[in-house]
Amino acid sequence: METLATAIITFFLVLLIFVPYYVKFKKKERKAKEKLEEAKAEGLVEAYGLHPKINETLCIGCGSCVKACPEGDVLEVVEGKATIINGYKCVGHGLCAQACPVGAIELVLGSPTKVVEVPELDENYQTNIPGIFIVGELGGVGLIRNAVEQAKKCIEYIAKNRPKAKNQNEYDVIIVGAGPAGLTASLTAMGYKLKYVTLEQEESIGGTILHYPRQKIVMTFPVELPLYGKLKFYEVPKETLYNLWLEIAKNFSINVKTGKKVVDIKVSDDFFSVLTEDGDVYNSSNVVLALGRRGSPKKLGVPGEELGKVSYKLIEAENYNDCDILVVGGGDSAVESAMALANQRNNRITLSYRGDAFKSIKPRNRERIKRYIDEGKINVVFKSNVKEIKDKSVILTTPEGEIELPNDYVFIFIGGTLPYEFLKKVGINIVQKSGN
Ligand SMILES: Cc1cc2nc3c(=O)[nH]c(=O)nc-3n(C[C@H](O)[C@H](O)[C@H](O)COP(=O)(O)OP(=O)(O)OC[C@H]3O[C@@H](n4cnc5c(N)ncnc54)[C@H](O)[C@@H]3O)c2cc1C
Repeated sequence: METLATAIITFFLVLLIFVPYYVKFKKKERKAKEKLEEAKAEGLVEAYGLHPKINETLCIGCGSCVKACPEGDVLEVVEGKATIINGYKCVGHGLCAQACPVGAIELVLGSPTKVVEVPELDENYQTNIPGIFIVGELGGVGLIRNAVEQAKKCIEYIAKNRPKAKNQNEYDVIIVGAGPAGLTASLTAMGYKLKYVTLEQEESIGGTILHYPRQKIVMTFPVELPLYGKLKFYEVPKETLYNLWLEIAKNFSINVKTGKKVVDIKVSDDFFSVLTEDGDVYNSSNVVLALGRRGSPKKLGVPGEELGKVSYKLIEAENYNDCDILVVGGGDSAVESAMALANQRNNRITLSYRGDAFKSIKPRNRERIKRYIDEGKINVVFKSNVKEIKDKSVILTTPEGEIELPNDYVFIFIGGTLPYEFLKKVGINIVQKSGN
């Protein structure tokens, strides 16, 4: 009798513990399924940049990857397996793969429906031409943290394995580009006491960071910089990060030559002559290309684009007040710039985008731009194209017909032409990635 009572009590105790857990689990799964269906309907599921590929046979549905993702709901557990539900939000942090206890996640580029082109690189970031290396975003993987880690590994490999300068006129390594990847490569080269030079096409160092809109919040993870120590940021205004790079470059006297656009690399056997636009020649057995992916900005190709009021970058939004401004594009750069301009005094901002929704912007930007639209701070014209830019107006084509808007400035953010032509000219192989 006593045994039966104990069994019944135990049974109810077990029910008491597990039923709420089961109900919560089912509720969470139902929500995840709903999110997946919504994302599918909006075409947001697929990821193209560096993103997780889940091996369903290995996945145990523990949800560690979901918790690890700093971008929010990229992943959810659906029917016991990790599933990408908002691929467009993935920026390739890779923390999901690190968090997976059974190794069910690998990071891949491209997808079967959207092939991504990247330079062919080995595990030391060496191209098919021995002695020419590619680090940072040019290699297909974004984020400051990745640029830093790749540059350190690449220079370490060069220091330990590659031939050095044979005479005074040569360098141990030539670094092209002074963004996060190029600057880290320079510091690492100094740490290994290599004779190096860093060539930067712009008049200032900093790379893409320099071109972020003013006060943009940069999200990153602590990284260890050679000689300097730890960069302990998680979220930081662009200016703080940019000034820190300037300070590091100054304090360590990084040998960077600005205003030096590299236009060609002559390859002869295992030796390279790097040519700049103004006629300089630098020689070495090792070249590290840290060019980023901005390349040259894409143009609209419409009448009036040559006018002085048209620009492809926005740095000082504060300089624009009481103006009629058109921003063109549907990515993070366009949306962030439109918001920065809308924050200034009395500006009237129109954002023209050919798509019917902002599909590939960060979740935070998605929420903010919605607020700006609701508050009437930005007039977004979806499904529109710029037809002509005139001195005092712009003409947009829309499904409802043409509209002419008063205009003082036009900012165009429709992406860039990748520096692949340059790479191909040098003989570097470009490969296609489709999620394999
Ligand atoms: C709007 C925006 C917001 C972003 N926000 C974040 C964020 O919050 N967190 C994050 O981690 N990442 C962010 N990123 C991505 C990050 O900026 C890049 O991944 C990072 O800057 C890549 O560094 P890099 O050194 O490879 O390239 P870049 O920073 O692009 O630097 C490349 C450098 O090479 C130079 N160069 C190019 N061609 C030549 C040539 N022929 N000769 C000489 N010099 C040349 C360029 O002028 C440039 O200075 C953002 C990017 C954008 C566009």
